[in-house]
Amino acid sequence: MQILVVEDERRMAELLRRGLAEEGHQVVLARDGMEGFEIARMSAFDVIVLDVMLPRMDGITITRKLRELKNQTPVLLLTARDAAQDIVQGLDCGADDYLTKPFSFDVLLARIRSVSRRGAIPRTVCLELGDLRLDPASRRVTRGSDELALTPREFSLLELLMRNSGRVIGRETILESVWGHGCEVNENTLEAFVRLLRMKVDTREPKLIHTVRGVGYVMRHVMRQAE
Ligand code: CA
Repeated sequence: MQILVVEDERRMAELLRRGLAEEGHQVVLARDGMEGFEIARMSAFDVIVLDVMLPRMDGITITRKLRELKNQTPVLLLTARDAAQDIVQGLDCGADDYLTKPFSFDVLLARIRSVSRRGAIPRTVCLELGDLRLDPASRRVTRGSDELALTPREFSLLELLMRNSGRVIGRETILESVWGHGCEVNENTLEAFVRLLRMKVDTREPKLIHTVRGVGYVMRHVMRQAE
């Protein structure tokens, strides 16, 4: 694959370049945001690996500008460890996935495969899981033929979980993403809040919101075994 890596930290950039090349990918490296944006705009790539904190133009701005130009190349963001706000903002701006630093190279490769498979999906498409549908543009949520009335917070939480379907989202990340950094909300409140969301979303089988004890929550659609 043709991969554009935009990363200003020299060691990390070199690690990515070498590692991806060893996997047989063609890698183009950009050292700052402006350069990365220009290269992404001018040539076609299968995937763009984009650091968020960059000189001259940050990764979220680059993603937004590319999407405004109708460039739908899959974007994988690299974010700092506790940057829940970056993650939500990045996904809202049209990034396809993210990875928090430090990450294992195997996970990076898996995510690259995954976003490249997804290809250039327009970000305006609805999120779907089983018969649950969330339309980020109109902010409508339906399950089967029922329209669900969610509060803005419930909508944010559901969107976060659906964008990460199949992946466990930690309670800390949820609190920071939905309530913001330094929020006073505690984990009991989150539990109560998820219970309310379940009463709206999971009124029928199969249940889609699952608790991962001691960690957080995951949305998953478990298909019935084929007969
Ligand atoms: Ca950086």
